Amino acid sequence: MRSSILIIYTGGTIGMKTDAETGVLVPFDFSGIYDEFPSLKRLNVDIDVRTLSPVIDSSNVAPSNWVELAGIIRDNYARYDGFVVLHGTDTMSYTASALSFLLENLAKPVVFTGSQIPIGVLRTDGRENLITAIEIAGARRDGRPLVPEVSLYFQNRLFRANRTSKRSAEALNAFVSYNYPPLAEVGVNITYNLPAILRPAEEAAELRIATRLGGGVELIKLFPGLDETILRAMLSAPGLRAVVLETYGAGNAPTSEWFIRTLQEAIDRGVILLNITQCGGGRVSMELYETGLRLQKCGVLSGYDMTTEAAVTKLMYVLGLELSRDETEELLRRPLHGEFTD
Ligand code: ASP
Repeated sequence: MRSSILIIYTGGTIGMKTDAETGVLVPFDFSGIYDEFPSLKRLNVDIDVRTLSPVIDSSNVAPSNWVELAGIIRDNYARYDGFVVLHGTDTMSYTASALSFLLENLAKPVVFTGSQIPIGVLRTDGRENLITAIEIAGARRDGRPLVPEVSLYFQNRLFRANRTSKRSAEALNAFVSYNYPPLAEVGVNITYNLPAILRPAEEAAELRIATRLGGGVELIKLFPGLDETILRAMLSAPGLRAVVLETYGAGNAPTSEWFIRTLQEAIDRGVILLNITQCGGGRVSMELYETGLRLQKCGVLSGYDMTTEAAVTKLMYVLGLELSRDETEELLRRPLHGEFTD
């Protein structure tokens, strides 16, 4: 049985090619995808393409683009078996993490990919990324999709999207997922890691999308020498509602009186503080050291082994639901779409 796939091109390096006459990079027209890649016809999929207007460099991506993307997927959900989102690599992990929260009851594959070298350049990594992403989005067993979650495919590995970060501006294997194993590895064959893949709670449930993301989120990375006045100013910013605090190691921070007092005052004013580690791999365990315990005691929440991208976008999603403080914290304390291991 053939699968039908919608490719949504949002912008980024993958969508560029070298103009044969002038030698400069010009946009690649994905609607002519079968002319550029006739081999795609051999895949057991029917492809439609939708290009966002205007296409954007992913450095310009804003939460409104995430809501727009979620809306396109919702509007086309019944017509397609899977979706491939082509996105600039710079903020792809943010967009893909955000979509993992915005698409509630997702039961079909949404595969993000992009490339480090434009698709129309001879040595491109985009061709393989694109073709394999399409194959994964259309992969089914016993009529059911193999990867019914938001994922990110890059250089031979398929990851859970909300576990990824871009780690290199140079290497072709630009993305990592330190704290969760790949959902699939691609060599001669595509080997799916089935136990690691999310299964929808209710397969027949209707796809719902959240259309509001909350503002007032700030990201603070600790470093030795962080100044009291600066920290106080950051935590008193007008409109501030939540902070992702990137701490050291297993969730540790200075125990100095002024530091703890400044955090405590922010929490008492209703600001949510979510602790994640600035180490790529590993997790926050605030009960391990006195330096973590002090944070826990003043009401800082654990982000466990979440990435920065997942922590920021989860906070925006949860704040957008406009729940009570207790309900908000309840959603932050448990994984909603496999974004952390507690
Ligand atoms: N600046 C580009 C973007 O993120 C880089 C890329 O696509 O790799 O849109």
